Amino acid sequence: KAKQEGANSYYYFSNDLQVEMTKRLKVGNCLRNALDNNDLVVLYQPKYDLVTNDVIGAEGLVRLKDDTGEFISPLNFIEYAEESGLIYRLGEQVLEQSCIDAKKWLDAGYPKKVAVNISAKQFTGISLVDTVASILEKTKLPSRYLELEVTESALIDNFEQTIKQLQAIADMGVSLALDDFGTGYSSLSYLRLFPLDVLKIDQSFVRDMISDSQSLDIVTAIIDLANSLSLQIVAEGIETSQQRDKLQSLGCAIGQGYLLGKPMPFLEMMDVLTQAKNKGNICT
Ligand code: C2E
Ligand code: MG
Ligand code: MG
Ligand code: MG
Repeated sequence: KAKQEGANSYYYFSNDLQVEMTKRLKVGNCLRNALDNNDLVVLYQPKYDLVTNDVIGAEGLVRLKDDTGEFISPLNFIEYAEESGLIYRLGEQVLEQSCIDAKKWLDAGYPKKVAVNISAKQFTGISLVDTVASILEKTKLPSRYLELEVTESALIDNFEQTIKQLQAIADMGVSLALDDFGTGYSSLSYLRLFPLDVLKIDQSFVRDMISDSQSLDIVTAIIDLANSLSLQIVAEGIETSQQRDKLQSLGCAIGQGYLLGKPMPFLEMMDVLTQAKNKGNICT
């Protein structure tokens, strides 16, 4: 009987492994194809001023289309892209598309910032500084309309290297946000060493802040920290009006989440900007 179970579990193991490898191969092929054809999709999620309800900008979020045209979540291919080295091409294409689109908003009369996610790995190897500089030049987007979102792991992994690059990027006039704040390991003394402009409270704290007093305490502490370091504060993952109201009362200036707007294609984002402007005009 033991032998039988052993054989069975071996079977299941190898089957799982095979499923895993097939999935990896599929994602890999799909990603390579998309990169070769410049076929990645960037969706935009609006960011709102929580007091005035103005749209202040948007975050670009990459999507990969599978062979039926359905979107694959970045949670299922960013890691692969990092491990395979495709992250450099991915990062470049997403950055360029985002800058092109922000330039279109600007030319249409909507001077809004676009935020682009950058993997820790992009601070090693191919120069991120050169990539950012050349894309800004190529797309003619003024640097003040670009923000890069990095995570704490990017700051810690190659401390010396990263700080130099972030400084060079900040010197260009691009702003820098620390994403998923509160989930990583960076010490507060580290935080002062980086030329940061924005702290983004991780969505896990926002999700739990109404039901769990510890999460609320953490959110409150992060907002106070950001204020005392003169950093802008953004809450992500706002799904309910309770969360929005609480965040606003705690002094959180900017918010993002399904309640306010889901990630959407470029044209829909253009509509959001147009509607926001029209609403503003009626009031004035
Ligand atoms: P992130 O940068 O922290 O982005 C926030 C994620 O939360 C996005 O997931 C967004 O769609 C989702 N989100 C926004 N509002 C809500 C909400 O109210 N509730 C919930 N439950 N989720 C919300 P997405 O688009 O699947 O992206 C996941 C992660 O993948 C991102 O987390 C980011 O780390 C990474 N990512 C996305 N695009 C890129 C990219 O172009 N380059 C790199 N390197 N990473 C990217
Ligand atoms: Mg982000
Ligand atoms: Mg985040
Ligand atoms: Mg994240």
